[in-house]
Amino acid sequence: MVSLSFVPVIHEAGGIAILVPGVCERTPPEGIGTAVVRTRHTTVRDARIPPICPKADLWFAHRTASLPDMGNPLVARMRGFGTTIFAEMSELARSTGAINLGQGFPDTDGPREMLDAAIDAINSGRNQYPPGAGFPELLDAIAEHQRRFYGLSVDPAREVLVTAGATEAIAAVILGLCEPGDEVVTFEPYYDCYAATIALAGGVRRTSMLRFPDFAVDEVSLRAAFSSRTRLVLLNTPHNPTGKVFSRAELDLICSLAREHDAWVVTDEVYEHLVFDGAAHIPVATLPDMADRTITISSGGKTFSATGWKVGWLHGPPDAVAAARTVKQFLTFVASGPFQPAVALALGLDDKIYRGLASSLQAKRDLLCEGLSTAGLAVARPAATYFVIADAAPLGASDAVDFCRQMPARCGVVGVPVSAFCDDKDAARTLVRFAFCKRDAVLNEAVVRLSALTAS
Ligand code: PMP
Ligand code: GLN
Repeated sequence: MVSLSFVPVIHEAGGIAILVPGVCERTPPEGIGTAVVRTRHTTVRDARIPPICPKADLWFAHRTASLPDMGNPLVARMRGFGTTIFAEMSELARSTGAINLGQGFPDTDGPREMLDAAIDAINSGRNQYPPGAGFPELLDAIAEHQRRFYGLSVDPAREVLVTAGATEAIAAVILGLCEPGDEVVTFEPYYDCYAATIALAGGVRRTSMLRFPDFAVDEVSLRAAFSSRTRLVLLNTPHNPTGKVFSRAELDLICSLAREHDAWVVTDEVYEHLVFDGAAHIPVATLPDMADRTITISSGGKTFSATGWKVGWLHGPPDAVAAARTVKQFLTFVASGPFQPAVALALGLDDKIYRGLASSLQAKRDLLCEGLSTAGLAVARPAATYFVIADAAPLGASDAVDFCRQMPARCGVVGVPVSAFCDDKDAARTLVRFAFCKRDAVLNEAVVRLSALTAS
């Protein structure tokens, strides 16, 4: 029973702490969400603070039911990563009933044939471990996809690895190729798992900022990010969260720096098919002299609106794929068995299905961009992906983190502060990312709600 003087919080490991009046080191967000509560007695990390919990600086965790007092058990290199911004904002949307334009997942299903293929795979007993590298039909389908769309010649037996989403591919490559102290060059803002995975590997992140509103590559800072310790470049095109598609000239610059420093290029292309207005996605592996130093990563989740299936893959030179496979064996070994044949089928679907998915998303982009502009935000119209970045400064916002926390109350919509993807928080101080991969009815309602921002 929850009372105002004894508020239980549930630790992620299942322990229960009781908050009683006192002092706590860090103030959890008011009312909802998760927090770190550290006291003389114990540390409760990722504690779920029930909505009834009043301002936490009046409270401290007095006792836990099952956690011994062992200080902070988290390894130092992972401190500071806490709960992902996606989990925090999805929880904010859930608890407030706001429309969730934060986390990037579609609210409709992908192609019917693909869904049926997964059902068939389950019904026909394909429910045990697939082979470590992935089902042969999926390896073949990935190689054929790279040939069909990009003219690449990929050996499915030695040059492809199926992973638990692109996330595991990123982890397997970085953990497999980087020694502690090696430097990884990437762009800010970056997809959140990049920083965490580089940290897990003991690597050092070196970044170059893509600045609102055009997010062009800044050659000076990019050159400065490279050094004799550079081991790899972690690129993402089309890019989350900016919606940018890197141009040929930008890619040429990145590739020439990678060659000059003898670095690998790991290119995350999960939005490869979600490109608008005829913009051209250029896979790095197709560029001159790059195939033998490039590892390409993608995933069925974004292309086919099945983010929960976590069927990803990588391909590249056999030695690099073998290195990633060695690590991957001990991360998950395998995953997503019955979804693998379904994604294999989807990869082979007709061009018009791919075009249909992209053009429907383009119309959604237009709808949301117009709504955001009308509400008074400055919009950087994206050329690809699920996302648009808008500046809330014209509405008087001075900090997008506060702005995003207030949005459910002000207008009933949730977005994500772009600073969550940046080391240099000032460069993104008032920027908010919104996802438009939602049904038109949801977007139309969001647009109506956003208009409240102008009034408030
Ligand atoms: N890279 C980028 C740029 C992403 O936006 C995401 C989220 N889909 C991922 C990787 C992770 O992909 P997956 O869900 O397939 O692990
Ligand atoms: N890729 C999704 C996004 O950028 C989130 C995936 C996740 O929650 N880890 O919104």
